[in-house]
Amino acid sequence: MSNNFSIAIHGGAGTILRGTMTQALQVQYETGLKQALEAGYKILEAGGSSLDAVEIAVVALEDLPLFNAGKGAVFNNTGSHEMDASIMFGKGLEAGAVCGVSHIKNPVKLARAVMDHSGHVILCGAGAEQFAKMYNITYADEDYFYTEQRYQQWQEAMKEDIVQLDHTEKKYGTVGAVALDRHGNLAAATSTGGMTNKKFGRIGDSPVPGAGTYANNSTCAVSCTGHGELFLRCVVAYDISCLIEYKGLSLKDACDLVVYDKLVKIGGEGGLIAIDKSGNIEMSFNSEGMYRACRDSGGRNDLLIYR
Ligand code: ASP
Repeated sequence: MSNNFSIAIHGGAGTILRGTMTQALQVQYETGLKQALEAGYKILEAGGSSLDAVEIAVVALEDLPLFNAGKGAVFNNTGSHEMDASIMFGKGLEAGAVCGVSHIKNPVKLARAVMDHSGHVILCGAGAEQFAKMYNITYADEDYFYTEQRYQQWQEAMKEDIVQLDHTEKKYGTVGAVALDRHGNLAAATSTGGMTNKKFGRIGDSPVPGAGTYANNSTCAVSCTGHGELFLRCVVAYDISCLIEYKGLSLKDACDLVVYDKLVKIGGEGGLIAIDKSGNIEMSFNSEGMYRACRDSGGRNDLLIYR
C-alpha cells in the first residue's frame, strides 16, 4: 500500500462570474463541494477504493439542488428529467453507465450497479430503471426533482425555443469525481441532467466512457463537464489518456492541449478534472469558471470557483 492518494471533484463549468454570485449562494456551493470532497477523501485516507470514493463524492453532489445532477437535474422539453451517469475503474477498464433515467435518486449508484452486475456497459431509459429494481436502487418520483430555479430556467428556454446548458448564464452544472487510491487504482465518475429543454432523448458525453468519463491505471482518470456534443466529438477523456500513453505527455500538457486548443478550435466550452497514476491533479477549463475542489495526501487542499 502506498501513502500516495488524491481526489478531485467538479460541480460544472460555465459562465460563473463573481458579480452575479451572492455571498450566501457562494457559501452554499463551497459547503456542498467541501462535504463531497471530504466524503471521498475519508475513504481514500482509510485505504478504501477509489471507486467507492468517486461514487460517494458524486452521490453527495447529486443530493444537492445546486448542481445539475440528481436532485438538481434540469427539465427536458416535456417537463420531465432524464439523467445520465457513468463510472469507470482503471484497474481492469471496468465501466458502467446509464442514460435517460427519470426516477433514480442517485444515477451514479445505478451506473455502479450496471458495472458490477449487468455484464453490460450502458443501459438506458425504462430498461435501466427496471434493472435498478433488482439491485434496490432508490427510486424517486417526479416531485423529488422539482426545483423552482430549474423550472424557471426551463420556462425561459421554452419561450426562446432553445436547448440550454444548465441555464441562461451557460453553466454546465454536471458533477464528477476522479481519484487515485493507496492501491494505485484510478477511478472516475460523472453525473448530469444534461441540457435544459433537451428533446428527442438527447444524450451527452457524461455517460459515454471515453468521452465524459475515463479511467485507466496506466495513465489517468478524467471527468468532464461542458457542451456534451463537442466533448463527444473530441472523445475528450480518452484523448487525454492517449496523449499520455502514446505521446508521453504529462497530465498537465495533455489537459492543456485538449482543453485550451483542441476543444476551443471546434467551439467546445467547458472543462475537466483529471488525476494521473502518480496522483498529480489537473482542473482545467476554458470557460469563466468551474466549481472544483481537490485534496491529496501531500497536503494540497483547494476549493475554487472562478478563474
Ligand atoms: N456535459 C453535459 C452534457 O452535455 C452537460 C454538462 O457538463 O453540464 O450533457
